[in-house]
Amino acid sequence: ETPATIPSAAPLARRSRQARAVWGNRVVTIGGDAPVRLQSMTNTDTTDVIGTAIQVKELAQAGSELVRITVNTPEAAEAVPHIREQLDRMGIDVPLVGDFHYNGHRLLTEYPAMAQALSKYRINPGNVGKGDKRDRQFAMMVEAACRWNKVVRIGVNWGSLDQELLASMMDENAHRAQPLDGKQVMYEALVQSALSSASAARELGLDPNQIVISCKVSGVQDLISVYRGLAQRCDYALHLGLTEAGMATKGTVASSVALGILLQEGIGDTIRVSLTPQPGEARTQEVVVAGEILQSLGLRTFNPSVTACPGCGRTTSTTFQELAKQIDDFLRAQMPVWKSRYPGVENLKVAVMGCIVNGPGESKHADIGISLPGNGEAPAAPVFIDGEKALTLRGEGIAQEFHKIVEDYIER
Ligand code: SF4
Repeated sequence: ETPATIPSAAPLARRSRQARAVWGNRVVTIGGDAPVRLQSMTNTDTTDVIGTAIQVKELAQAGSELVRITVNTPEAAEAVPHIREQLDRMGIDVPLVGDFHYNGHRLLTEYPAMAQALSKYRINPGNVGKGDKRDRQFAMMVEAACRWNKVVRIGVNWGSLDQELLASMMDENAHRAQPLDGKQVMYEALVQSALSSASAARELGLDPNQIVISCKVSGVQDLISVYRGLAQRCDYALHLGLTEAGMATKGTVASSVALGILLQEGIGDTIRVSLTPQPGEARTQEVVVAGEILQSLGLRTFNPSVTACPGCGRTTSTTFQELAKQIDDFLRAQMPVWKSRYPGVENLKVAVMGCIVNGPGESKHADIGISLPGNGEAPAAPVFIDGEKALTLRGEGIAQEFHKIVEDYIER
């Protein structure tokens, strides 16, 4: 009898072209066989050279592999090469992406030092220009990309969708024998706007491998529909993100659900999680969330993982939650140093559990695991290393001793 097989949950793969965002010796590939890339955006005024450079550095150190800055005025355009210089001086070679709306054609033409200092341009077809000017202005931006060999993201956003295109499609739909649902027309307009701009860019000489596409919307189901459509109709690398995802928990959950579903289907070559930071919250939080999405899907590994149970009536205290948090914080804080010193350290798995019900089992699946004593259990904390029970900790110093065991393990 053939045993029943459980279907694999491995994410699917979509074959896409590969773009190359280059700065100096740093090449960040997007699409093709490259891992899904993390990116983020600054929220400083770009004319604040030092403030912007510091934020780019923070985002890059948090794991952002590309950082976008807005280039909205001549003063911002003038600041870009200085920001790049500051970063180079700090040893931060993360490629910069320029975000252009309305006047990108003028800025990219009149400020060649800015056009060169960026590694990628984001062009929003809905904000390029109107009527006859549109094609010329779009061509000016694409010509700059061709001249300096830069990646172009054609980034459509439904908040700034080309209204002429949408109106003509709505009109056409109204005359169909069986008109489509209004949302379907909107999806179609987003996809067509992006793909027709990509075709226009290719006709102007842009290498198709250097084109990345995005069609951002703020609803989870809308994003899934639009990106499934995009993935079917083109082989460009796709930038994936839910726009205006919102604050803290809502934004994190909505982005995780939307991106998780699409990434599982192999859709998405670079991601951005757009979170509205809470007052006092680090700007880097969105990079942490994006990294966790990729890591939880098994697409990338950035940090050691800490498995911890939620705790229940069997837990005697909050000690194990505190220990789990301490270990997690400690491992993340050490990663910038450990990454180069201990190759593969990001694959480490640690379990911190509240009692022996699931503690030893989880501990055996981890590289190192501990089960703190639960309600009614002997005051002892068994520690497992590489799947085997190695020792039992007792007394007041369990947390410190466990820290030491983790550090020794990593060094070994
Ligand atoms: Fe509760 Fe123990 Fe399960 Fe943790 S491992 S949730 S303490 S039963």
